[in-house]
Amino acid sequence: MGKWISKSLEASDSPDYVNHIAIEDIARLAEGTVDNDESEQLLHHINCCQRCYEILHHTLKDASFAASVQPAADPWWKTKVAYALAASFLLIFIVSGQLAYKFWSHAPKVISATLNLDQNLKDILLENEALRFGKGARLNRLLAVLQQKGLPVKNLTLAVLSKPYYQKKSLFGPGEVLHIRIENDVAYLEVEEQK
Ligand SMILES: [Zn+2]
Repeated sequence: MGKWISKSLEASDSPDYVNHIAIEDIARLAEGTVDNDESEQLLHHINCCQRCYEILHHTLKDASFAASVQPAADPWWKTKVAYALAASFLLIFIVSGQLAYKFWSHAPKVISATLNLDQNLKDILLENEALRFGKGARLNRLLAVLQQKGLPVKNLTLAVLSKPYYQKKSLFGPGEVLHIRIENDVAYLEVEEQK
């Protein structure tokens, strides 16, 4: 494009050369970055002027060639714009995450505790054989028992048992404890025999 333009500028011997549209303005017109009033003015000149019309025509041809080649070489997600967007989303995520953390900071993020496996807890474990249980009566009972025992847990969405729990046959066998770890409202439970 550059070569073509300088050649046509040299070839131009029109007396009203100074009234032609500046190359930069033609480029901006081709990019669509001029406002309505300005583009009306420029287009009016281009309608009457063969030289400027041809420059615009070649600029548009070059621009559409560039536009048709570049995206194929670079997928959209590799472009700077996509990176900038991703970065701003990440920033929003970090900022809102920090706010949420600040808001909930009176409650620890991960709670872990070892509890004596009393009858209340055993009843919940023995209720059925499901190793994972979500929202429902069983999970509500677990939450209530944990809160009763002083754990700073506000909400549970899921409980996961490491293995099925079976009632000990002997009342005088080794004691049992429940290891519990609560993270992101999910309680991970594991029963361990006390040796
Ligand atoms: Zn002109």
